[in-house]
Amino acid sequence: MAHTILFPDGRSPELEIERAVTGPDVVILNPRQKRFDAIDLSAWESCDAVVVARIPIDAAVVAHLKRARIVVRDGVGYDIVDLKTCGEAGIAVCNVPDYGTTEVADSAISMMLSFARGTTIYDAALRADLAGWTYAHNVTARRLRGTCFGVIGFGRIGTAAALRAQAFGMRVAFYDPFLPNGAELPFGFMRAQSLEELLGQADVVSLHTPLTDETRGMINAAAVAAMKPGAYLINTARGPVCDTSALLGGLKSGKLLAVGLDVLPSEPAQLTDPLVAAWQANEPWVRGRMLLAPHSGFYSPDAFVDMRRKAVETAYHYLRDGKLANCVNAEYLKRRR
Ligand code: NAD
Repeated sequence: MAHTILFPDGRSPELEIERAVTGPDVVILNPRQKRFDAIDLSAWESCDAVVVARIPIDAAVVAHLKRARIVVRDGVGYDIVDLKTCGEAGIAVCNVPDYGTTEVADSAISMMLSFARGTTIYDAALRADLAGWTYAHNVTARRLRGTCFGVIGFGRIGTAAALRAQAFGMRVAFYDPFLPNGAELPFGFMRAQSLEELLGQADVVSLHTPLTDETRGMINAAAVAAMKPGAYLINTARGPVCDTSALLGGLKSGKLLAVGLDVLPSEPAQLTDPLVAAWQANEPWVRGRMLLAPHSGFYSPDAFVDMRRKAVETAYHYLRDGKLANCVNAEYLKRRR
């Protein structure tokens, strides 16, 4: 019997990349909705696999996955999927870990470079007033060489960002309690034993953890207080890892010199968030010291194609051959459908 793959919030109307992977024998359902309940229940109940971008796959959704054997999150972060409920139902959950690693690392470094060298601030200042021909616009200017690049979450992206920072003559330190002893040795980086130790010595703190119960709110007022005065904070991981009111306090007090955010606790950005409102109003205390991007750290046309192709390959190869790749809920998957 032909397999059916549901793309509840499919990335394109035609899904031509996905169809090229599966060939004509797979039925593709592509309702392209933003919410679970906007999609006919029969689609959820009849599909053999789900490839999802943003719709949360929580217990209420899993209850309707009568046949599905696999859920693939077409991205790295899988915090929108209830791993335990899926696993207990015999449904494997997989992600696509490797489609945009270098793009996200580049994005974190580009924010750091923009603060250090003034790329965006000079352009904006000259566009507003061509006569303002002065280096003084850049209030976050700094010599990077010799300063410390601190990575929180030394996985694929964190490592890639660290290697880039090293090429700028920076010392690298990282904090990642889940890596085995010796993870620092091949690189010669400094490994911090605690979050506070990392925060106390980094001139640039770059976040690269997943969103978990432990990392949610990790950068709060206490963490900002533990940072080196005048540090940059860059978040290309997940918005809820940072408490934006703590970042606001840090910018206002001067403890944080600069904040670069590719992600926010609530996306798209809302003016109800006082930090976003201050940034948009260009308040004097935030002017030139904050960069905001629309969760675009991963984006390049190449990464986008890789993400779609690898996601559907993961679902299709499992259905066709039983080959499971990048499973992220193995601890709950005691039996498979
Ligand atoms: P990864 O799994 O390779 O690395 C994550 C690292 O974080 C792991 O080494 C893990 O041990 C560590 N970690 C987990 N909990 C931690 C904690 N409490 N403290 C310190 N370290 C902790 O993942 P990756 O491919 O490097 O991606 C990292 C994150 O980047 C993803 O989870 C995702 O949320 C985010 N991301 C963002 C974008 C974007 O467009 N902005 C794109 C892709 C991924």
